[in-house]
Amino acid sequence: MALNQVKTTCSYCGVGCGIIATRDGQDRLTVEGDPDHPANRGQLCSKGRNLNYVVQDRSDRLLYPQARLHRHHPLQRVSWDQALDRAAAVFRSIMEEHGPDSVAFYISGQCLTEEYYLVNKLTKGYLGTNNIDTNSRLCMSSTVVAYTKALGEDVVPGTYEDIDHTDCLFVAGANPAWCHPIIWRRVEARKAAHPSMKIIVVDPRRTDTCALADLHLQINPGTDVLLYHAIARRLYDTDRLDLGFIRDHTEADENYLRILKSLHLRSAAKTCGVSLDDIKTAANYIGDARAFMSMWAMGLNQSRVGVEKNGALINLHLLTGQIGKPGSGPFSLTGQPNAMGGREVGGMASLLAAHRVLANKSDREEVARFWGVDRIPAEPGLTATQMFDALESGKLKAIWIICTNPSVSLPNANHADSALRKAKFVVVQDISHRSDTADYADLLLPAAGWLEKTGTMTNSDRRVSYLQPLVPPPGEARPDADIICDFARRMGYSGFDYRDVSEVYDEYVRMTAGTHIDVSGLSHDRLRREGTFQWPVPSPVHPGTPRLFTDHRFYTPSGRARFLSTISHNEKPPVAPPDRPYILTTGRIRDQWHTMTRTGKVARLRRHMDVPCLDIHPLDAAAEKLEDNQLAVVHAGNGEVRVRIRYQTTLKRGVVFLPMHWGKTLGSSLTRANNLTDDTLDPYSKQPNFKFGFVGVKAY
Ligand code: SF4
Repeated sequence: MALNQVKTTCSYCGVGCGIIATRDGQDRLTVEGDPDHPANRGQLCSKGRNLNYVVQDRSDRLLYPQARLHRHHPLQRVSWDQALDRAAAVFRSIMEEHGPDSVAFYISGQCLTEEYYLVNKLTKGYLGTNNIDTNSRLCMSSTVVAYTKALGEDVVPGTYEDIDHTDCLFVAGANPAWCHPIIWRRVEARKAAHPSMKIIVVDPRRTDTCALADLHLQINPGTDVLLYHAIARRLYDTDRLDLGFIRDHTEADENYLRILKSLHLRSAAKTCGVSLDDIKTAANYIGDARAFMSMWAMGLNQSRVGVEKNGALINLHLLTGQIGKPGSGPFSLTGQPNAMGGREVGGMASLLAAHRVLANKSDREEVARFWGVDRIPAEPGLTATQMFDALESGKLKAIWIICTNPSVSLPNANHADSALRKAKFVVVQDISHRSDTADYADLLLPAAGWLEKTGTMTNSDRRVSYLQPLVPPPGEARPDADIICDFARRMGYSGFDYRDVSEVYDEYVRMTAGTHIDVSGLSHDRLRREGTFQWPVPSPVHPGTPRLFTDHRFYTPSGRARFLSTISHNEKPPVAPPDRPYILTTGRIRDQWHTMTRTGKVARLRRHMDVPCLDIHPLDAAAEKLEDNQLAVVHAGNGEVRVRIRYQTTLKRGVVFLPMHWGKTLGSSLTRANNLTDDTLDPYSKQPNFKFGFVGVKAY
């Protein structure tokens, strides 16, 4: 491959499409899908196809460090030495006065694995606090907990190839036709080649994904657990369980059996808002399938019962023995490109590197020995939303934010803004001044972006890819790994003298040796030479592992999978207050990514939807005397937005939908969807409840 051409991986979603990027003699960039990459086989979606414009348009890029000595002073240009010396001095002084738990790092599922690893090592090993969390907390943490409870570790059992072998696909709380488009192309191809394959979609909205469905279960929001229990009950009633698998490979669970036996199908159907026949059909499709696969995303994860929703769906696989064989298994769709890599290196407040367990003393001691530090603190750190609560209360004094925009993306965004205003010291490390969070920075550090730095990422099916630079970063921008190591050395820490980022990766892979996510057979050199690998890859000649649990031995102490069954289907759904009768659900649109700092720059991506609109059923709109396209006020207990309404007959009555992308920089503070979401969290995963809130809608 010519020097002006590199193979890399798309920086948006967890599909992890391979890209060939080329720079011509006039420094113009082009991108095309990598035909040899197993995730996309040459295809790219609209976002990936336009990545060259995002890299080439440097009008929004941060070019040099900036600092302010006082909140009311403007940011001023400083040198890197001044910036990082100041960061080290402030962190040191705050920690001396208030202890290590008074500082925190809040990072991103778009960080490369090496960057994640370094921040985790710096925080847990050297600063002496577990206060490192990531925006993956908003995305995948319910899945992490559910996989760990059910299968023994946070592992995706299957592979994209399973799509090519399945004959029943269950899609829940996800719209892959828009949000994971290249995976969906593969599903379309499977359905075209095997029309008898059944597709079931569970969603309160009739999305583009439903166009391919044999059965759309348009449930009432928040009733997923009951629906999956009802399907399980019907499988039980019709003798469609794999009793041999349950006996030999799962832990006996009387509570789950009791829940299923006491469930009344007709009343479950009524609560879920679907017909009894549809529940029976879903159970028939699943029970009769030779290979049954499920996919889910934020609709299950972003819930006050996100872990339970994940667990109830995984239960269907355990009941039918549909895991660890071609075409089967529960398959979570990661939102961000490297959410999986972050989980591997333990880059969250509740995790440790290489799937070691923070609560386990010997695991903490092992990691401490590996890093050459005295100890890893035992107490879990603050999770994403807890960090902002702690900034607000004054318990947390300083926060360092890397590659994420919490002022737009956190729930209850007005609260996040208020917390950032109260912080004593805020460092924002980003590529763009369009990040709304930059408004709160005391120190603003310019980072290198995609195609400007080296490292690895892991996509939804455990595939590790190597990313390499093609263009230099603009101005004085530096790779994130470089910035972190420089800061650590200025703090006087000895473990950050790497010659280059490949040594960081080598250190991480050594740490995985002997674990279930062993990648000690990988190195940057091997990835560059041989392409991508699915972990585990325990030796330099190992080809990688597409599918886990083929022997039906799970990673629990007993070797058996566990049903998750703690929730009762008798729990009453939340009741709407009289002035807020609609259920708000938020989510992505097809051509935008997160808070639009990159995709918002591309005119042809903005054409799909230029301004945010509230989708509402025309009959609900009529009840509020609202015309299509009329400006409306949407209000919740904690804030409001003002947007035009859009009639959508595809929505269930009583449900409204607002895209999550727009913030102050690209819209106004009154188009920010997270003005309306609240702080409710899943009690186990601490993942926010973005998919369910009560709002009122009225004419502006
Ligand atoms: Fe990028 Fe995801 Fe689109 Fe693939 S499907 S090109 S990874 S945004």
